[in-house]
Amino acid sequence: MTLDAAPPATDHKTPYARSANRLLAAIGRRDFDLIEPHLASVDLAKGQVLFEPGDDVVTTYFPGSRTMVSLLIVTRDGREVEAATIGREGAVGGIVSAGNKPAYGRAVVTIPGSALAVPTAALETLKAASPAFADLFSRYADALLAQLMQSVACNALHSVEARASRWLLATHDRAGEAIIHLTQESLAEMLGVQRTTVTAVVHALEERGLIRRHRGRVEVVDRRGLERQACECYAAVEEHFANLLPEVTL
Ligand SMILES: [Zn+2]
Repeated sequence: MTLDAAPPATDHKTPYARSANRLLAAIGRRDFDLIEPHLASVDLAKGQVLFEPGDDVVTTYFPGSRTMVSLLIVTRDGREVEAATIGREGAVGGIVSAGNKPAYGRAVVTIPGSALAVPTAALETLKAASPAFADLFSRYADALLAQLMQSVACNALHSVEARASRWLLATHDRAGEAIIHLTQESLAEMLGVQRTTVTAVVHALEERGLIRRHRGRVEVVDRRGLERQACECYAAVEEHFANLLPEVTL
């Protein structure tokens, strides 16, 4: 995974694809008018680091329709494991706290694509000005917390095969296509396991006809079968999200 951090481009004048991010699309027109002057359309590159642990979160990103960002926890010896997957249904950055606070994890772009970037300070001003906007964001924070909590159970209790299936399903949802650009090395990093373990798991899933491997890509062939293979965590997180944020569809 490359770790080149690039500052968000702010000179794009393309129309803001508000609907590309479902969380932004759920904001009322009046509230969106307040945030729109602060939005910048940016392109996020694969492997781009949006923030590192300890960085001030000065920018919050709303991923576009096929963009995906992973929140990773990094250990002192440099290993990392994914704690949350965020795509068009959410935002990465100043979700809960007011003002620019230090990041706890590393945010890395796993599927490149467009996003809308907003200064976290502007987001805070809007939260203070609009109870509806603040409510939407606090419900999103709850959903993200649930995903993080589920990851604790998942990483401790569930098999690598079930976890890999869960990850592929969540990524399939956000990528919006059956082909997922992914090396086995990245999947191993994401799951916090040895590459050889992932190789065996991916091979087993392919043997069962659930996925097909290509060079640097994985194709989801049998989504229903993959759902049966995944642990309960995928459905649990999705269901909780739908209950908390019925107006935000993936
Ligand atoms: Zn699980």
